[in-house]
Amino acid sequence: MSGGFGRYAPSPSSDLHLGNLRTAVVAHLAARRDGLGFRLRLEDLDDRCRPEFARRQLADLTALGLTWDGPVLRQSERPDVYDAAVAELAGRGLVYECYCSRRDILEAPRAPHHPPGAYPGACRRLSAAERSRRRLTKAPAVRLRAEVAQFGVVDRLAGPSLQPVDDFILRRADGLAAYNLAVVVDDAAQGVTQVTRGDDLLTSSGRQSYLASLLGLAPVSYLHLPLVYNAAGRRLSKRDSALAGPALFERLGGPSGVLAAIARSIGLDAPGGPDIRAQMNALLERFDLAALEIGAWTV
Ligand code: GLU
Repeated sequence: MSGGFGRYAPSPSSDLHLGNLRTAVVAHLAARRDGLGFRLRLEDLDDRCRPEFARRQLADLTALGLTWDGPVLRQSERPDVYDAAVAELAGRGLVYECYCSRRDILEAPRAPHHPPGAYPGACRRLSAAERSRRRLTKAPAVRLRAEVAQFGVVDRLAGPSLQPVDDFILRRADGLAAYNLAVVVDDAAQGVTQVTRGDDLLTSSGRQSYLASLLGLAPVSYLHLPLVYNAAGRRLSKRDSALAGPALFERLGGPSGVLAAIARSIGLDAPGGPDIRAQMNALLERFDLAALEIGAWTV
């Protein structure tokens, strides 16, 4: 192992669907093929997450022949680590409290250079007196005081690009660490150097890389994968329960069938072998990231 890890980081708020499982398998193949280790992390911060989904997600990944190194990291067990990162940024004047509701943000006038959905910055300019007044009626979220509007990232499929950065949330008003903060802190804590995930998150990669640079953490390489769509042309979601969990495994004839369908979707023949570990190893021998044929997949 040459050092460094790939990873898969699902949120246990439903069973994994075929799109999630494809991402997990490619993340595993890409890491092992590059001689990296592989980490598993449960992004279980919000209250839609359930222990039974976590158990089933790990069982499904194991059933497909994935193996990971070290313990599974659970974000719900690490509030102190996220608070310490926010405190470090706060000590450098890089955060501010935000009292805006979703509606305030949607209705705020925005500068022309702001990307759609970016925080327009209303609370950035509040005086200390105004902040004390607002704190009496509303718990604040904590935002990053970003000093750039874009940040460069390199994706192994999409190539180099500039992605938007705004004053994104680090800690939510309910006190939980926000996704972008937890991802960056945990990728570093797990030694992750290669991030594989769905390409809906490519537009988050600039925020995360920028935050990593502020925290003095090494940049990661990205592999954002095209998503999987249902027959109605919508990307798979937790509503597609027929393409997730036990129903999916039954429909495709068990783990070997699921792995075979995923293999074919990335341009590889279904792997032979007496058991799932042998089938995963057969895929590993043939997997070549440089020649990866992977497009959106409609199932
Ligand atoms: N937990 C996120 C999800 O399940 C993935 C986050 C990431 O890979 O950075 O969509």
